[in-house]
Amino acid sequence: MLNKIKYAFSSLMLVELLKGMALTGRYLFARKITIQYPEERTPMSPRFRGLHALRRYPNGEERCIACKLCEAVCPALAITIESEQREDNTRRTTRYDIDLTKCIFCGLCEESCPVDSIVETRIFDYHGEKRGDLLYTKDMLLAVGDKYEAQIAADRAADAKYR
Ligand code: SF4
Ligand code: SF4
Repeated sequence: MLNKIKYAFSSLMLVELLKGMALTGRYLFARKITIQYPEERTPMSPRFRGLHALRRYPNGEERCIACKLCEAVCPALAITIESEQREDNTRRTTRYDIDLTKCIFCGLCEESCPVDSIVETRIFDYHGEKRGDLLYTKDMLLAVGDKYEAQIAADRAADAKYR
């Protein structure tokens, strides 16, 4: 009975409405957190797991030694690698594909790589317009690595003490 009286009283006094308006009023003067993307961007962690890249050493040599650990560990079976032995007896990939439509961005490929070759970058705003656009080939992945190497290296350095 008491509850019914309380409910009737608060309904009559529009208590819920006033509570809602008080909340709105509080946020009216609070610091705004909406940003004007893409001109403005929120801070990102150096561990952000975005678009993949294959890296090179400073002398231009590919880091990847075709050990296939990343291919074996990938839970989505998104990576396909073929390799061959070079004349200098080093092993390098002849094919390195990542199907980004399968990838779940778990980061296991990056974690498993013994030479920091395959990495995930901060890039998240990419897209494909037709079938196959999101199948990234070795050349495409190396191009991403070449373009963003400075950022990739800085992120690895920032995270090094936690690894
Ligand atoms: S991030 Fe995960 S799912 Fe994507 S390619 Fe790497 S291991 Fe596979
Ligand atoms: S990217 Fe790394 S883990 Fe994958 S095959 Fe190359 S060296 Fe091995």
